[in-house]
This record gives sequence, structure tokens and C-alpha cells, in this order.
Amino acid sequence: MSSENNVVSFSGGKDSTALLLMMLEKGIPVHSAVFFDTGWEFPLMCEHIDRLEKYTGLKIQRVKPKTPFPVLMMEREIVSREVRVEKIGPAPPPQELDYDDGDDFRFDYECWELDPFEYKKTKIGEVYRIGYGWPSPLRRWCTREKVGAIDAYIKRIESAVSCIGYAADEAHRTQKKTLQKKAAAGFKYRFPLIEWGVDEAAALSICKSHGFDWGGLYEHFHRVSCFCCPLQRIGDLRTLRRHYPLLWETMLEWDERITLNPGKHNGFKDHVTVRDFEARFAEEDRFLKLPLAVNE
Ligand code: SF4
Repeated sequence: MSSENNVVSFSGGKDSTALLLMMLEKGIPVHSAVFFDTGWEFPLMCEHIDRLEKYTGLKIQRVKPKTPFPVLMMEREIVSREVRVEKIGPAPPPQELDYDDGDDFRFDYECWELDPFEYKKTKIGEVYRIGYGWPSPLRRWCTREKVGAIDAYIKRIESAVSCIGYAADEAHRTQKKTLQKKAAAGFKYRFPLIEWGVDEAAALSICKSHGFDWGGLYEHFHRVSCFCCPLQRIGDLRTLRRHYPLLWETMLEWDERITLNPGKHNGFKDHVTVRDFEARFAEEDRFLKLPLAVNE
């Protein structure tokens, strides 16, 4: 790692923090550390990044989306690039009175019985929804923005080598098709934690040994990313609601706005809305508070 410009892809989490600390400790030159600021970070994560900058003396380069994520998610007009036909809801049954001929009505009625839904057709160039809505495994528009912004930053640096903090116990992540495609297109990568055999647990210990504890975030979560990420586990959502109620409130507000927007919405996670989760968790809390039945 000598003649090239090492750029640390910094997420703020334990692995990339350990990577940065170890590179500095080993005297490996670091050109810069780049962090994509989604605006959806835990406030404790933002505090951690500020602390790390002071501790290392290294300015972490923050890149931001061109358009703030809440605007993309809830306000942007999304224009159709193809003719789209979307089911918009149940269609009323055909009215017999509208027909002179009983046979026609029967035909319409049979068609309606086979497919009792109404459809909306959108032409190319027409707005078909407002806001991308919550990201999902098939529509990770947030990741697309993030990768695009970080790639643009790295491309500006001569002989850049992107140093990624995948831990030794997640080496499979290096096989991602997107990474392989970009490597074929000339991007250079290095995975120093894997080279050094540092797994996730060791990465966290290294950070703690330097006094970083993220204000307890890792006591609540195994992985820390955007607080409102729909790809997180349901258990993490429950934890978020319990320990970070203000962030949960924000998610509830956004969820409502998304649902009220025109266009098709797939909910927050597998067609379940944040408000559905709220009802479920509140019911769980209520159940836990019930007095235990005592057999006398
Ligand atoms: S953590 Fe989730 S919400 Fe944040 S950028 Fe990644 S996929 Fe999107």
C-alpha cells in the first residue's frame, strides 16, 4: 500500500472505523476517508464521526446526495420511461341499466368477475408517482445514489485504491457482481481487514480499545446503518422504537406521507407499513404488561 492513493470507504461503523484506525497505526498512507451522508444517520453516529476526526486529525470527506433523501423518497415527480399499466383498485361491477342488450351485459359481467379491478395506464414521459417511496431489496435507489456519489469522488483521485472495511468473516462480500464489474472497468480495491484476518468482533474490540463506543449503539444493534433502513431486521425495528422513540416518530410521519402520495406503494417492508409495525409492537407491549394469570 505505498505508491497508490488509498481512499477509505468510510461508513462510520465498527469495521470501517477499525480499518481507518489500523491503517493509521500501521503507518499506511491514507489519502482520504470518504463518507456518504444519507442524512439518515443516527445522531450518535454523527457524533462518533466528529470524535474520530478529532482523534485521528484526519478530515473525513462527506459527500451528500444531490437531492436530499426525504425529497427523493416523498416529493420527487417520477416520470415513466415506458408505458405502464398499474392495478389501482377494485372496479365497480358493470351496471345492467347502461345496456340495451342483455347479452352484452352478461359478457361484461363475466369479464368483471374474471378480473374485477381497475387499471391506470401511464404514457412515456408522464408522472406516474410522487416520490420513490421506501427503498426495497428490488428498488435500492438510496444505494444507487450512494455508490454513484462515492465513485464520482474516487474517480477524481489519481491512482486511487478504494479500501473497503469488509471483515474477515464476511469475505463473501468481495464476490459481489457490482464490485467485480467495477474492477473490470478499472476500479482498484483492497480489503485490508480480510488481509489482516480481522473479523467483526475483533474490529469492534479495536474501536473500543481506542475509546469509541458510539454512545452504546452497538449494544442495541449488531450492524448500524441508516436508522430508517427497511432492510433491517424486525427485531432491530423493535429496538429502534424502544430506545430511539424520536427517530421512530419520524419514520411514522414519513410512512404516512408516502402512503398518501399518488402512485403504487409497497409499504415499508414486505408490504407492511411502519404504522402496521407500530400497531404490532404496541400490542406486544400491552401483552407483556398484562398481569400473569395465577392458578390458586
Ligand atoms: S442502509 Fe438501507 S436505507 Fe441506508 S443507503 Fe443502505 S439500503 Fe439505503
